[in-house]
Amino acid sequence: MHHFPDARAVVRTLSPDEPVILTRPQAAARAARFFVEHFPGTAMYAVKANPSPDLIRILWDNGVTHYDVASIGEVRMVRALLPQAELCFMHPVKTASAVREAYFTHGVRTFSLDTIEELAKVVAATTDEAGVAATDLRLLVRLRVSSEHSELSLAAKFGVDLVDAAPLLQATRQHCDALGICFHVGSQAMTPFAYVQALERVRAAIAEAAVTVDIVDVGGGFPSSYPGMEPPPLEDYFALIHRHFEALPISYSAELWGEPGRALCAEYSSIIVKVEKRRGDELFINDGAYGALFDAAHVAWRFPVRALEDDLTQPLAEFAFYGPTCDDADYMKGPFLLPEDIQAGDYIEIGMLGAYGAAMKTGFNGFGAVEASVVDDEPMASLYLGRKDDRVSDNVVSLR
Ligand SMILES: *Cc1c(COP(=O)(O)O)cnc(C)c1O
Repeated sequence: MHHFPDARAVVRTLSPDEPVILTRPQAAARAARFFVEHFPGTAMYAVKANPSPDLIRILWDNGVTHYDVASIGEVRMVRALLPQAELCFMHPVKTASAVREAYFTHGVRTFSLDTIEELAKVVAATTDEAGVAATDLRLLVRLRVSSEHSELSLAAKFGVDLVDAAPLLQATRQHCDALGICFHVGSQAMTPFAYVQALERVRAAIAEAAVTVDIVDVGGGFPSSYPGMEPPPLEDYFALIHRHFEALPISYSAELWGEPGRALCAEYSSIIVKVEKRRGDELFINDGAYGALFDAAHVAWRFPVRALEDDLTQPLAEFAFYGPTCDDADYMKGPFLLPEDIQAGDYIEIGMLGAYGAAMKTGFNGFGAVEASVVDDEPMASLYLGRKDDRVSDNVVSLR
């Protein structure tokens, strides 16, 4: 892969007509080391946030040993890449054949579920041909919790309601070696109290079911930094989670797990796009809703941007983007702040696209082509840079 100091050097050298995905291995390595060193339990990487094999290998090399996989495709891909990794199949709705292959072929022992039917499916699919049931399952019951503190809800689709949790926990206990409770507070949780509230619900579920719980998995939701969405330091999340986990009615040997996706990879990638046309305060660029900018279009996520020309002198103004496809929905309202004199032919770097950005690219309408380069400069924002000590509160450094 090409290697450059930064996005400007890429543009000067290649004058690219296709979008260029830039990766920053050092940023992903730093995020991995931070979670490995500071998260008060086991941090497993949620692969769906960005399934890039290069990224997964960086995380592994920096101490991330557990991977949250959600489909048999992710199981196969991560297993082929990392034969030693611990894979946890954390999608509560799986096909029986996927469970069977994961268990018997790929050594997966950890599964999540949120209904009695899924429990029966997992138990049946992990029973061998002689009719002997598995004795080494780790089963995590997914509890529905509030998404009110998060930018993207994950409360509607999965999770057993607290009122129905006790019988499911009791039934699951009968079939597993280790029983866990998991939840997801929603993506980009802007306050650590989201986890405190969820752990209160875990406490109520354990008390009601009166079962021994071996694993508490606080899921994903750990934030990254975006314009208008600058969260408190991750240490605040970790400290509150640790304190409330310790206070649960569970044994001393119970394990705390987390499933960060976004926080481990958001800083890993950015993209260079070219302005093809300007119409007032709208810029027609060569990537969009069907490319790496899915969230910018569909949930109006604001990613940081910077112009890559040296000769733009005007103050910043607000722009909206149109992507390259012929679809009106290929529109990103922003606002994105760029020099007022930006015009067709200019290049823009859009940052913080490592999570749910680079992973979302499609080939719709023939616009999927992309080049890739590694760059050495820092991401446009970081939760892991500019740390004076372990307890700083101003550790969101904007490098724009
Ligand atoms: C998507 C997902 C994650 C990762 O969530 P982030 O908000 O990216 O941290 C973790 N666990 C499960 C079960 C998920 O579906």
